[in-house]
Amino acid sequence: MGADWIRRAEELVLPGRMVIDGDACAAVDGRTFPCTSPRDGATLVEVPRGAVQDVDRAVAAARRAFADGRWSQRPPAERKAVLLAVADRVEAHTEELALLISLEMGKPIALSRDVELPAFLRTLRWYAEAADKLLDELPQVGPDAVAMVTREPVGVVGAIVPWNFPLTMAGWKLGPALAVGNTVVLKPAEQSPLSALRVAQLALEAGLPPGVLNVVSGLGPEAGAALSRHLDVDALAFTGSGTTGAQLLRDAADSNLKKVSLELGGKTPNVVFADAPDLAAAARTAAWGVTFNQGQMCTAASRLLVQRDLHDRFVEEVVAAARAQRVGDPLDEGTEIGPLVDESQLDRVLGHVERAQWAGARLVLGGGRTLEVTGGSFVEPTVFTDVASDMPLAQEEVFGPVLAVLPFDDADDAIRLANDTVYGLAASVWTGDLRTAHRLARAIRAGTVWVNCFEEGDMTVPFGGMKRSGNGRDKSLHAIEKFTELKTTWIAL
Ligand code: ADP
Repeated sequence: MGADWIRRAEELVLPGRMVIDGDACAAVDGRTFPCTSPRDGATLVEVPRGAVQDVDRAVAAARRAFADGRWSQRPPAERKAVLLAVADRVEAHTEELALLISLEMGKPIALSRDVELPAFLRTLRWYAEAADKLLDELPQVGPDAVAMVTREPVGVVGAIVPWNFPLTMAGWKLGPALAVGNTVVLKPAEQSPLSALRVAQLALEAGLPPGVLNVVSGLGPEAGAALSRHLDVDALAFTGSGTTGAQLLRDAADSNLKKVSLELGGKTPNVVFADAPDLAAAARTAAWGVTFNQGQMCTAASRLLVQRDLHDRFVEEVVAAARAQRVGDPLDEGTEIGPLVDESQLDRVLGHVERAQWAGARLVLGGGRTLEVTGGSFVEPTVFTDVASDMPLAQEEVFGPVLAVLPFDDADDAIRLANDTVYGLAASVWTGDLRTAHRLARAIRAGTVWVNCFEEGDMTVPFGGMKRSGNGRDKSLHAIEKFTELKTTWIAL
């Protein structure tokens, strides 16, 4: 099966053009940057290096498309139909897009095809279906007036997304933004431009009007910054690092005070009590929770808090489950853990491992680069015990398959440790005691708390963080708040 994907990869035509105003184009100044594959470090294709002039063109196209009403003034049921057609067209290209994702950022092909693409389609279809079911408000203001509270699209949306889930993250922004009538300029991460560029082409072919979705490939400090500093972008939706998120807030303050929503990092506590109903499931989950997508997840279960009596035998099970995971070529159907996104990410992760050892944590699994002969940026699943909460490994987001294990004594201790972080994205609690479950769910400051499960979700529930994990919510109808303005119309009678 691996050989088949490799052959298909060799035959694949890779997208090398931006999509602006319905045109496939190069950067105005003709510059490009190499898109490399982490499976072997080889350059896949040269991609346009969009910069200020390209972002200006894209924003101008998006503004025209918004202002002339070709999308914003279409009846919602028509927007729904177009977005559903886009989803159908993308679905027909599932394997091609899955391959692009696995090539550009190293996700195992089975996960690109069976997790990433379905998530993108689900998102697009859910918001398409929502488009013609949204209702405005008519509050009771007394006999002498009629007051209407209506939601309007914000206008031109800039979306800046990361490389770890290139299409899922794009979908979380595009779905609600487009469903309510905005136009969008999307800036994919420099590591993963191909899938986004291809989706933009497919969307045009499916009938999305030109200028409604523009995709500018380029570097963060160039194309990304041009978008975040743009005077004619009304809202910016971002998923990525805290450092960039902070910069985007500064850019908004220095430009036009655009609305900025941020989904940033996390340091998810995965809290396991000795009375958990299914400890074997908890151990398996603890292992895949930090290795899934090579640990490159803002929700990665990177801090395992284990009740002290259970600690040693539980860690043994987790280590066995992590060790059993197959690291390999992302184009092999049997691979569970692919390469990290690039060499610099590999260096960062190995740096965290080294610092954890200096700080006195005990390495009980992995810790090194692997499969080096392939030229790919592979790292072993890694587990540290004896981690203190003030060690960098317990505090900093690693974004790699590196687990920090900390023991706790009781529920109070678990809550204290779980909240001992600047992040507040997600948490997981494993217990058979209803009171403990509720207590921790309330006490942990995080946007999502899973009980006796991990990474569960649905389009109906919001996703996002508290504290330095950001603001605003993706998914659910709440996401629409980021892409709309409320208007009050007061009519005296
Ligand atoms: P990561 O460390 O996960 O790569 P980043 O925050 O650097 O996270 O990247 C997420 C997205 O933000 C990418 O699309 C990247 O190009 C973009 N980006 C990075 N720096 C900037 C910046 N200064 N301004 C705008 N966008 C940026």
